[in-house]
Amino acid sequence: MYVCGPTVYGEAHLGHARPGITFDIVFRYLQAIGYKVRYVRNITDVGHLENDADEGEDKIGKQARLEEVEPMEIATYYTDSYLRSMDALNVLRPSIQPLASGHIIEQIEIIKKIIDSGYAYESNGSVYFDILKYNEDTNEYGVLSNRTLEDMVENTRVLDGQDEKKNTYDFALWKKSSPEHIMKWPSPWSLGYPGWHIECTAMGSKYLGEKFDIHGGGLDLLFPHHESEIAQAKCAFGDSPVNYWMHNNMITVDGQKMGKSLNNFITLSEFFTGNHEKLEKAYSPMTIRFFILQAHYRSTVDFSNPALIAAERGLRRLLEAYRNISKLKISNSSSVDIDSIEKKCYEAMNDDFNTPILISHLFELATTINKIMDGSEQIDKVEHEKLKPFFDKWLVDILGIKDEESSNMQPQVEGMMDIILDMRKDARDNKDWAKSDEIRDKLSEIGISIKDGKEGASWSLD
Ligand code: ZN
Repeated sequence: MYVCGPTVYGEAHLGHARPGITFDIVFRYLQAIGYKVRYVRNITDVGHLENDADEGEDKIGKQARLEEVEPMEIATYYTDSYLRSMDALNVLRPSIQPLASGHIIEQIEIIKKIIDSGYAYESNGSVYFDILKYNEDTNEYGVLSNRTLEDMVENTRVLDGQDEKKNTYDFALWKKSSPEHIMKWPSPWSLGYPGWHIECTAMGSKYLGEKFDIHGGGLDLLFPHHESEIAQAKCAFGDSPVNYWMHNNMITVDGQKMGKSLNNFITLSEFFTGNHEKLEKAYSPMTIRFFILQAHYRSTVDFSNPALIAAERGLRRLLEAYRNISKLKISNSSSVDIDSIEKKCYEAMNDDFNTPILISHLFELATTINKIMDGSEQIDKVEHEKLKPFFDKWLVDILGIKDEESSNMQPQVEGMMDIILDMRKDARDNKDWAKSDEIRDKLSEIGISIKDGKEGASWSLD
């Protein structure tokens, strides 16, 4: 599986979390059902120009100019920051994480192949892909995004340097650099740098072969990035490069895509600290992860505080059920059938990785666990032994949820709460209602609520 990674010129934001988590689920699930997966996710550290176009400043070069540092300092700093955010979200690291700047030779070799096949031409030291010729011969440019050449003409803005091109919609494979451009390499055509699309063709084919199973990325990469990858690979290697294309939909803010170029983004560290004017509070990494997984990856997700707070509550409910498994009373009969629930979980995930349906099955089971806790349903020994492995597999391994509240101190915290509840029980037995209420109210102030039931008092986090 190849997934287009980030262009590393700014802090990772919620929009980066979506593809990170979407393809983490694919990676985790395919392995859980027995596949060996080689997962390649690149780092774009060169060649991605402003406006995703063939003209304008390199995004990383521009940030380096603004921060007055080397472009590679920008790329290194923001790669580290991106990986830290992904680690916090419990996104597994890919098997291979290649850098575009580390594959200049491979890119040059593929460009040569495309020129030899007749579908690219040199102009003034730059090399462009000849879309018109490709489309005349194959009628396939637009096969993935359902675009026609006419749409593309209308959508192409006239920019400087386009007189080098035969047609305005031809895209750059290699760009001759201007004297002030820092990141540049020698090539047969000029001292310059590769185009943005060719890097993924180079790194994908190098590590996964000329034809591989899954290519992923955000829906905003469908056109022109992925469309161009198909055209490049067909001309260089003679075949379409990918069996399955997968695109995650966007995160929106007030209906608009969240992105750095639109300047409406909230970074992941701002979410974790709550330090942003649009945020009512801090949200933990697992809340963010769960929020994203509650939508199907092909649907848009609209950011809002109420939606995040609902995700936080839902996740807490699931984790409480998970922690309560060991406290369940075993009966002779069972109203739960874990195997049939598990079958439904597989059906959900086999239906295009439908995480919201999977989560709904976990919620149903959490409700059942609560009913077993209060005695209105039963579980027997056989089913009870399946419960923890079931949650370990679906909640922890496949959905990648970590129990953030359950720290190393958990046994001590449980013990302390038992002592406090015993003291409160003594107060109640002595009819010292003032003391009993004081204990309950003080616990409530720190976010712990006490429930009195037939079997004694129990506690939970608000
Ligand atoms: Zn890419």
